[in-house]
Amino acid sequence: MAQENAPLKKIAVLTSGGDAPGMNAAIRSVVRSALFNNIDVVGIQSGYMGLLQNKIITMQAGSVANIIQRGGTILKSGRCPEFHKSENRAIGAKHLREAGVQALVVIGGDGTFNGGHLLANEHGFQVVGVPGTIDNDIWGTEETIGFDTALNTALEAIDRIRDTAASHDRLFIVEVMGRDSGFIAIDVGVAGGAEEVFIPETMANVDQAIQSIKRGMARGKSSSILVAAEGQKVGRAYDLAEQIRRRVGFEAKVCVLGHIQRGGPPTARDRILASRLGNAAVRVLQQGMTNVMVGVQANQVVSVPLKESTTKKRRVPNELIELAQLLAH
Ligand code: ADP
Repeated sequence: MAQENAPLKKIAVLTSGGDAPGMNAAIRSVVRSALFNNIDVVGIQSGYMGLLQNKIITMQAGSVANIIQRGGTILKSGRCPEFHKSENRAIGAKHLREAGVQALVVIGGDGTFNGGHLLANEHGFQVVGVPGTIDNDIWGTEETIGFDTALNTALEAIDRIRDTAASHDRLFIVEVMGRDSGFIAIDVGVAGGAEEVFIPETMANVDQAIQSIKRGMARGKSSSILVAAEGQKVGRAYDLAEQIRRRVGFEAKVCVLGHIQRGGPPTARDRILASRLGNAAVRVLQQGMTNVMVGVQANQVVSVPLKESTTKKRRVPNELIELAQLLAH
């Protein structure tokens, strides 16, 4: 994966796909690490769409001042279906060449990496991926930028809901983000003491949830919280509430946390992860590597082939699924 290159003079950075808290900290780290090594940096606005529209801006050390604590992304993110076509990627490549860019840091999820991978293969740019998604489902890293913040936001909401649930003897279903992945749901379920967690990866067990609620009531528990990922098998949280109501006559209150989980200042953990990975991205480019993603494994920064991170999926560990069930008993 290393390739013979002229010394790196100029790199570009973009954020793409779903935004995640900590992307700004990653941009800051890429920019400052590059400038420290006498590499010029440009930012591409609005992901691959901005690349096609030639929205390329010069980044200086001051361009990333006062952003480490801010959620979202100053470069803006977006989706760009046009980038699936090779003729459009050729336009993007032309814009990069005209700007004198030799290498590209793409911050996002596996879709973003797919686009970067193609750009590297078809047009010879060095490309490195930085995993930024609240879903935490990227192969090759134990944590993605934004996950910890989203998790803590969801946990704070659950703690608040538990206060009101307990005061009124209520059953709540809290829907958290995760269309294809149950990382937020299972982690917040364990951390928030949920009675049952519904995730996309496993069959929904409504009977088990009802038994768990009943068991809790029998020993004097008056309130319960179920956590449901968006993509769990029963459907959305309202569908789950309806199933429970029909079977046992309980009214379940539904709280959909939604986009609240994407925003807000990144946690210290996300800021540090983003700072480490942004710096690592510049280092691997300097080493001549391409088509890799930087990530963390056993708290060490590693690089893995982009191809692996786009073709394999990281799954919620069974250990956590079992633990969530065991502790709810
Ligand atoms: P994420 O990066 O969070 O997984 P998406 O899946 O929406 O988000 O991907 C972000 C963008 O990456 C897409 O809008 C598109 O521009 C680009 N992209 C995704 N998949 C491909 C692909 N197979 N080929 C080219 N570009 C792609």
